[in-house]
Amino acid sequence: MPGSPVADDGPDAGPDAAGDVEELRAIVGQLRTNLEARGRSGLVGVVMTAGNGGKKTAAAPKAIAAPAVAAPKATASTAVAAPAAPAPAPPAEAASPKPRTGQAGLQVLRDEIGDCQRCKLAPSRTNLVYGVGNPDADLVFVGEAPGADEDAQGEPFVGKAGQLLTKMIEAMGYSRGDVYICNVLKCRPPGNRNPEPDEVASCEPFLKRQLAAIRPRMIVALGKFAAQCLLRDDTPITRMRGAFRSYEGIPLMPTLHPAYLLRDPSKKKLAWEDLKAVNAALARVGIHPPKPPAA
Ligand code: URA
Repeated sequence: MPGSPVADDGPDAGPDAAGDVEELRAIVGQLRTNLEARGRSGLVGVVMTAGNGGKKTAAAPKAIAAPAVAAPKATASTAVAAPAAPAPAPPAEAASPKPRTGQAGLQVLRDEIGDCQRCKLAPSRTNLVYGVGNPDADLVFVGEAPGADEDAQGEPFVGKAGQLLTKMIEAMGYSRGDVYICNVLKCRPPGNRNPEPDEVASCEPFLKRQLAAIRPRMIVALGKFAAQCLLRDDTPITRMRGAFRSYEGIPLMPTLHPAYLLRDPSKKKLAWEDLKAVNAALARVGIHPPKPPAA
């Protein structure tokens, strides 16, 4: 068709052009929906890159933003569509902002949790126990739920089990301030009973978002409850411990809970084996504790 913008498209261009445009529109729509869902999920991905001195790479979050529903490359058939094409969509980032990370991400989430009344633990708690430590930590410890001391002070792992955890962290060569410490539940179950499914359902999304904000390189799940909850696996902790698993792409080491170790100190050496394996795995990607670990 001389004089037409589709002149080079050959004999099929005219009748199929509208179909091509529709198909292209559907593909772009699907791509946009997918990107928005990934953005909302906070799954920013953590790349275990060797030799970067333990710094998080900018590449991980960028990986999601990259295919920002940019205009598809013009081809002969998209060129046909140009005059009839809908107004260009806003970039995916504008429609669904990237979740904030580090301190900013943790603070946004803490503000959102507020004076939480979402489950039946709220009326009996003294303090909501959010988490403590380095918002950009490479290493995160996740426990079960606050006990009486934690509820009173608003900080995780400050009672007897917490003091043992602090010693374990220090034996690895870290301080509490180097790592991040939190629990699956943010409020104390009365009488230290086990967390109930509706309480976990209310609270676990906050743990997920804490982890997405911190983007640790390694998670240590303390005890059966944290390990089973994060991994959706009801294998007993005594069988699960000591072998690396993956939580949303982040290596996770299930180990014994410090409260259990207080009840059975003979098991401390098993937990120490697990923590040494964590240090060794981090060392393989260039992450070393600030102080030399205990032998
Ligand atoms: N046990 C836990 O699991 N978490 C705490 O914060 C304290 C004790």
